[in-house]
Amino acid sequence: MSENAYLQRLFQRYYSEKREDIPKVNSFEKREFGFIPWNKQIMIRHLAFRELGDLREKLALEGPRHVYSSGTLYEEPDHLDMNQKGYNGCDLIIDIDVDHFFTPCKEHHDTWSCKECGLTGKGMPDKKCKKCGNNKFKNVAWVCDKCLEIAKQSIVRLAHDFLLPDFGIQESELNIAFSGHRGYHIKIENEKMRSLSSDGRREIADYLSGNNISYEILGFKSKSNNIYGLRRENIGWSQKIMDKIEDLLKGPSSDIEHLLEKLNFSKNKIESFKNSKDVFLHIITSKNTQNIWAIEGYSHNGWITFLNGIAKEIGIEIDEPVTIDIHRLIRYPGTLHGKTGFKVQELTLKELDFFTPLDEPKKNLDPIVFYGKNVNLKLKIIDNVIPTIKIKGETFGPYKEGDIIEVPNHVAVMLLSKEVATLL
Ligand SMILES: [Zn+2]
Ligand SMILES: [Zn+2]
Repeated sequence: MSENAYLQRLFQRYYSEKREDIPKVNSFEKREFGFIPWNKQIMIRHLAFRELGDLREKLALEGPRHVYSSGTLYEEPDHLDMNQKGYNGCDLIIDIDVDHFFTPCKEHHDTWSCKECGLTGKGMPDKKCKKCGNNKFKNVAWVCDKCLEIAKQSIVRLAHDFLLPDFGIQESELNIAFSGHRGYHIKIENEKMRSLSSDGRREIADYLSGNNISYEILGFKSKSNNIYGLRRENIGWSQKIMDKIEDLLKGPSSDIEHLLEKLNFSKNKIESFKNSKDVFLHIITSKNTQNIWAIEGYSHNGWITFLNGIAKEIGIEIDEPVTIDIHRLIRYPGTLHGKTGFKVQELTLKELDFFTPLDEPKKNLDPIVFYGKNVNLKLKIIDNVIPTIKIKGETFGPYKEGDIIEVPNHVAVMLLSKEVATLL
């Protein structure tokens, strides 16, 4: 039996045994569905279901590799012509995926190879191949508890520092899910958000990531040789930046040094900033100053560089196209991710706090549904390097091409799903 046929059978069995675990999302019948089957890498779109039972039946019957539904609501979600579907608004979707930001551990567990010349490397590939200039790479990206923790903290900050305080969104309007692979998404079901245009969504994406902030609007200005800083009374970004600066100034000098080094400030300027630390803290925290920012060596441009550096620490690295696109499909909760065999796990904000996807103690939140400690499968590794993987508290690998291994069911399902191993 081919690996895909084997996995499909597993998925079919899962979906037929766990029918009740497939939830009904809001406005279910107004959403477009999409499936990627096992036999070809193509999304079958423009599907819709009247009843939850119909979806559950289809999943059990076909056991698709990936299952998606739209953030968009349509009058006729299954109409083949996008313009004839009857657009009824779109939930705001924010995707945070490890693929889109740097984590130090990627150097240890992700590999890439150039599709043109075969050059290989670790971590994230450059924009263009160093050897041949081509920009198409084959990536082998691994799930990793450290990367996932960083993605999770981003979601927590996104909710508590941005969505709830700045947009007046209720916690109950947030639909958070672990993707089953390398990230999380939030779907916001809020009437005002639903009616936003793509441009409006782009502005929100910029706001969340802290791109293109106008510091002048926040109060920053140069006037007769003085530089006036941000006004703290302005809520939103002004307050976030000022709080962050205050934290920085109250912390150890090494934190300041670290940040300024990252921003390429000279040794002299870093020293000068550190020497003015307490005075600067007094200026920004006491009410009776004019908020004039004067540190030797810091011009208007120097301050802008500094503020951009602070904003980058606060902003959230989201996958912007997902938020801007109003016809995007996202993974359906409760379904299986075809590159891991893990479940797309819905979570409340409170559940998220302690959620550990690769070793989750709460049974009802555990995405590793094929966990089988005592069921071993024999596989042959067909990819050149598989890094060490830590899953359910156990460590597997590293493996190399040609290795014959015996691993528990859930690890086997993941390696087969990633197409780096074959059944023996
Ligand atoms: Zn190349
Ligand atoms: Zn990692």
